[in-house]
Order: sequence, then C-alpha cells, then structure tokens
Amino acid sequence: MLTHPLVSAEAGTKMLLSGNEAVARAVWEAGCRVAAAYPGTPSTEILENVCLFKDMYSEWSVNEKVSLEVAIGASMAGSRAFCAMKHVGLNVASDALMTQTLAGVGGGLVIAVADDVGFSSSQNEQDSRFWGRFAHLPILEPADSQEAFEMTRLAFGLSEDLDAPVILRMTTRICHVKAMVTVGERHEKAVAGFKKDPDRWVMTPAAAQKRVPWMLQRDRRLKDMANRSGLNRLEQGADKRLGFITSGPAYMHVKEAFPNHPILKMGFSHPLPEREIRALAEQVEKIVVAEEVEPLVEGELKAMGLDVVIHGKDILPEFGELSPANMRGPVAKLLGETYKPPVTIPPVKVFPRPPTMCTACPHLGVFYTLSRVRNIYISGDIGCYTLGAGHPWEALDTCISMGASMGIALGLDKGRGAVDEKKGIVGVIGDSTFLHMGMQGLLDIVYNKGNVTIMLLDNRAVGMTGGQENPGSGRDIHGEEAPRVDFAKLVEALGVRPERIRRVDPYVLPDLFKTVRHEVKQNEPSVILTDQPCVLIDDYDALKPLYVEEDKCTGCANCLDVGCPAILVTKRGKEVKNNGKEVDLAWVKIETSACTGCNLCPDTCAHDAILPFTPVVAEMP
Ligand code: SF4
Ligand code: SF4
Repeated sequence: MLTHPLVSAEAGTKMLLSGNEAVARAVWEAGCRVAAAYPGTPSTEILENVCLFKDMYSEWSVNEKVSLEVAIGASMAGSRAFCAMKHVGLNVASDALMTQTLAGVGGGLVIAVADDVGFSSSQNEQDSRFWGRFAHLPILEPADSQEAFEMTRLAFGLSEDLDAPVILRMTTRICHVKAMVTVGERHEKAVAGFKKDPDRWVMTPAAAQKRVPWMLQRDRRLKDMANRSGLNRLEQGADKRLGFITSGPAYMHVKEAFPNHPILKMGFSHPLPEREIRALAEQVEKIVVAEEVEPLVEGELKAMGLDVVIHGKDILPEFGELSPANMRGPVAKLLGETYKPPVTIPPVKVFPRPPTMCTACPHLGVFYTLSRVRNIYISGDIGCYTLGAGHPWEALDTCISMGASMGIALGLDKGRGAVDEKKGIVGVIGDSTFLHMGMQGLLDIVYNKGNVTIMLLDNRAVGMTGGQENPGSGRDIHGEEAPRVDFAKLVEALGVRPERIRRVDPYVLPDLFKTVRHEVKQNEPSVILTDQPCVLIDDYDALKPLYVEEDKCTGCANCLDVGCPAILVTKRGKEVKNNGKEVDLAWVKIETSACTGCNLCPDTCAHDAILPFTPVVAEMP
C-alpha cells in the first residue's frame, strides 16, 4: 500500500500544503500521541490528515466537548494531545475548557479552532480569540501554512512550559489555502504517565478555588512570554503617518496593500505584546488595527491609554474577511488621500445556482413530503438537511445550532398558543447530529411529555462535511469496522414507545407521507427513522437510471418539486386553466448519467412519464 506523501515526506522536504494539512503534519512531528475531533468546516481536514499517521491514536469523537475531554485525558496521562474543531465547536467544548484551564496540563495540549470568517459554511461568524481571554489561555494565530505548521509544533512546548492548553486560531483562509511548507521530523516524547493529584485533577469547588491564584500567576508569565515571543514582530516602514497592528491572514492583506507603513504582526496575539505595541505607538501618528472578526484588539488598545489615535472597525469592514481591496479605500480616506479603485472587469454573470442537495439524496423525499403535509411547524438542525429550508422545499421553520431541533420542537409545543393548538410539530435531525447533541433533547421531549414527531434521517455519514464516519456508520476514522448504533433501540432506550418508532424508506413517497401524517396526529413523542445511505458513501448502490418520455410529459412540473439536480427543465410555457387561472409549465428531462435510479420522482408523476432507461446498444456490423 502506498504511503501518503504527507506521511512519507522526509525532513527538509518542501510541500504544497493547506493550513489544515500543515497542522496535521506538525501534530505528528511534535510527538503527539492522541488526537480527536468532530468534523466541522473549515477544520475537518486536520483530523482527516492526522489519521494518516498510524503511530498516533486518532478518532472522530461524537462532539467537540468529548474530543477535548479525550485530549485532556491523554494530556493527564502525560502524552501530548491535540483536538481540532470549528468555531462553534468550541462553544460546545467550552465547558471542559473553562475548568481545564484551572487544572493545567500533563503532556502538551493544543486546541486548533477554525473560525469561519465570511460564513462559508456556518450559522454564525464568531471570534475564537475571545476564548483565550475568557479561559486565560494563549492564542497563536498563523498567517499561512508554514506558520500554521511552525506554530503547531511550538504550541505543544508552550503548553508544557506554561502548564496551560494552547489555542491555535485558524481561519477558513489559512485552513484551505495551500502554500509551501518545509517539513521536519517526528520527535518522540517520553510519556510521563498519570500522576494522581486530586487537588489538581479533581475540580471540586474547594480545589478549583485554590487553583485561581495559580492561574493568575500564570497570566503574568503568559504576558511576559507574549512580550518576548519571536512570533510577534514589528516590521519597520518609512511612512510613519500610520502603523498597523494585525494578525492571521489579515497580516498578508495589510502587507500587500500598505508595504510602506510599519506593521506589528502578532503571531502570539493573546495576551497582547504590550511592549511591541508601545514601540509602534511611539513612532506613528495613528494606528489602524486590522483584525477579523471583532474589534477585540482595538478595544484593548484603546484601554491601554496610548498617546496615539486608534482606528479599526470604525473604518474597516465590520464582518467578513479583510482584503487589500476593502482596506485601501478607507485607509486612503483616513490619510486624506484620494483613492481611485483600479478598473475591474465585472464578473461574468452566471446562472444563479443556490446550494442544493445531491442527486438522489435520501433527504429529498423527506423534504418533498414535509413541504406537502399541512398544518405542521418544522424545526430543523445543522447538516445537509438544513438545505431543506431552501427551494423548492421551503420545509424548515427554524434552525439554530447543533442538536437544537429537539429542544426547539419541544419549546414550540409547550409554548404554543390557542392559534397553534391543532398544529403538528416536527423536528428534523440527522444521525450524526443526533449523536452529537440531539439525544439529550429527545430525552427531554420524552421526559417532559412533549407532543413532537422527530424525523431521524440516518444516512450513515456526517454528510455535510464530506461523509465522515460516526458511531451510526459502523466504521471508525480509519474505515475499519466499528460497533454501529441501532437508532431504533437507542430512541426506545430514551423512552419513546416502540409503537411510536417507525422505520420508513425515504425513497417511497406514499409511505413517507402516510407515516408523517399519522405520527403528527399522535399525542405523544414519536420518531420516524429513515435509513437510506448518503449517495456519496461506499454503501450507496446506484440502480439503473430513469428517463422522461417526451410525449407523455405534460409540463406539470410536479417532479421538479423533489429538487433532484438530475431533473432538468427543457422548455417553459404557460397554460390558461378552465377557471381562467394561468399556470406555469415546465417540461423536463432526466440527465441519465447523473440519475441513480432511486425511483423517487416517478411517484410525483401522475402521467407515468418517468420510466426506466434502456440504453440503445448499437449492433456490430
Ligand atoms: S411530473 Fe411527469 S409530467 Fe410532470 S413535468 Fe415531471 S415528468 Fe413531466
Ligand atoms: S430517479 Fe429521479 S429523483 Fe432519483 S436520481 Fe433519478 S432523477 Fe433523481
């Protein structure tokens, strides 16, 4: 079997790596022994690459809190440990983090957090640098792949020196953009072993209280380290009217847009390197803080009482990524200069293509059905099925955070007024999301006698992030067989009566429709399990494709409501009905090369125009 180049590369090799790949290699080189994560864009590929290194334990955990707890346990055992997550994942893991900061670490403990700056695939855009302040921990911020690599290696040592977890704050741009990295070699670390120390590892209130002065003392050491760290550097510039303070990828943009100004580049950005900041403030008239997402450094700088004017979010974009293009204009205005934006060629207009589900996705039938069942409210969740809110289904009424569909469904039920008395409440959740955060919500629904129908869409993968394994898939991070959760037994164990647990094939629309209609009328919690695999995983078996018989197609467009991307409109038109009403028509064809023959759309066609496709085989002369 070929070894992956990331694993086989010898020390000194230059490789084109994304930030996520660079972090993975560095985790291995640092002698880390245990790594855990729950997949989440843009951090997913870190563990996907870490798991290539077989001399390290790696796992997909059921959620970020568990992944951090696994890493904490390994660190307590004296091993170097690592976990990765996206920004919202640290909200989940924060309960463990906020206590672990008091306990400190055994082996070095590094937490890579990827902020989705610009909302590429997240429900919010939050700034993980706050967690450093909140948890009294150092924040390292790489600006490219090489820095991501170096800072990760360094973070393990820093963690051990400081006796604190270290947060490596990445952003989408660092995670996914590739750049040259010179790799090194693995340095094995002796495992110190677990040392019993209840005053430290057992955080009773009395023990935790005693650790606070220790943590505050550590804060002072941390500050000193930030001031002395080579990761913070003041780059000189001739134009002293303005100096910049920046970190992460924003540094690259500042450097490109304003090469003549002094720049303080912070790699070790919390606590702030006050010495370097004051050195910059003494030589410039004004400071502009270029930071993504919140005006965090800007606020701290203003509180330092520097004798210099501080700007930041008052002139620069308040959310989304910074770029040379969106910074040049505001900075020129600040300097009293005229700025003529370069002439840009307008982008070529492309046909609008909203995000949608895959061809033959087993969720298509679920949302088609939900869009047709009357008198229901639907609380949705985080995953591919969030797309159910979009066209053509428009079948989600709420979506907040991972696993929240359960609690929100119960809240909709308990909080309903007389006007909603006859409404059914449906909560929709995927298998991995259910295991991540949904189980407790269902337990709460059962325990508090909610009148809610849960649709548990088991597609045996964490679909949205690329089909990673989870305890519902029957495989582990290495693709090896693992115990598979039996969802029917699990929901029964949570208290749902067996009579109210229904298993339905999501490709059979009449069954799906009947089951949903029936269950929403029940006056107790019920669970409808759909159990067809994600079309992108190995377990999915494509069948023979279908086609549309042109002569039979009336253009009624019913099949388009399924939302399958393999169904294409060939012609549009209008028809005036007997009652004088004008209706839109759309004649369709099926792209047979994409169709998997899931047999979902024929159920929507009252004219039997969708039929099995038999390829014409040319006879040999
Ligand atoms: S449902 Fe049938 S008749 Fe209507 S557009 Fe689709 S293929 Fe044509
Ligand atoms: S059978 Fe219909 S719904 Fe299924 S993949 Fe083919 S076109 Fe799409």
